[in-house]
Amino acid sequence: MAENDNGYVLHSAEHMFARSLQNLGINVKVIKADTFRADGKAFLLLQGKIPSTRLFEAEINVNAVIPQNLKTTIETFDDIDAATKRYPNLRFNEERLKDTKNIRLVKIGDFDVCACKNKHVENTSEIEAFVIIGLSHLGGETEIEFKAGRDAINYLLSNNDDVLELGQQNNFNPKEIKKAYNKLLKDLDQTNQEIEKTFLQLLKNSENKFIEVGDLSLSRFYKTMNNFAKSNPDRSVILMSSSQLIAIKGASNDSDFKAIGERLREKKAFVGDVRSDYINGKILDYDEAKLVLAEFSSLII
Ligand SMILES: [Zn+2]
Repeated sequence: MAENDNGYVLHSAEHMFARSLQNLGINVKVIKADTFRADGKAFLLLQGKIPSTRLFEAEINVNAVIPQNLKTTIETFDDIDAATKRYPNLRFNEERLKDTKNIRLVKIGDFDVCACKNKHVENTSEIEAFVIIGLSHLGGETEIEFKAGRDAINYLLSNNDDVLELGQQNNFNPKEIKKAYNKLLKDLDQTNQEIEKTFLQLLKNSENKFIEVGDLSLSRFYKTMNNFAKSNPDRSVILMSSSQLIAIKGASNDSDFKAIGERLREKKAFVGDVRSDYINGKILDYDEAKLVLAEFSSLII
């Protein structure tokens, strides 16, 4: 595919979106409008951090104007001064057009006028629908990805069906997906706190033996282990899953971590960081690692 055949629909939608933002009092500076991509995707990069609520307001406005069947017309002017004299609200790139002759304006009814060389729809009804599908404020700019036409409608339908299905499966009202999701996050947070509490209790009762945790990811326990070693300087804690080992030593604990680490490496049971107060790395041979830790259990204080 040489060019995106939906590109001109996307491009006209982009003009309408920029104007809708301007109508909200936002100073719109288009850094890049990318709508004729071979992959069919459409992006708009705007200067500054435009709040998502304003972007959504403009999105609603574009969809209100589309069915007004506004006709697109082209006008040309000798230079940008003549064009702005006729259309004081003209949107254009000052740097690019300052010394250009023959300025081409694309008008969408009386709704928008913009200096542009690209192909456009003849009538806004061809756009059908406009939807923002991605949003980023990285680097202090505003980048949106969007869809228009049948693609936009299909996207909305597919999202709607997904939410409907999720709601049916998990007993929530699709209209209240935000509420349902936030409740889930809250529940998860509570569960995590309970796991932390249980883990801390396990550390207290571990009597300096190593703790096995099956397939759990150890990174989530790292902070708690560290805090435990700080508030219990005479203790050391060793945590091992099927794929990872973390050991942390309190400041006044005498366990010989270097000896343990060396023995683990020697037995090809482990690879990773070994310091006098800290071991962290990958388990290569779980059974062998267990044997080494058992062998050293008298040295783990
Ligand atoms: Zn344009």
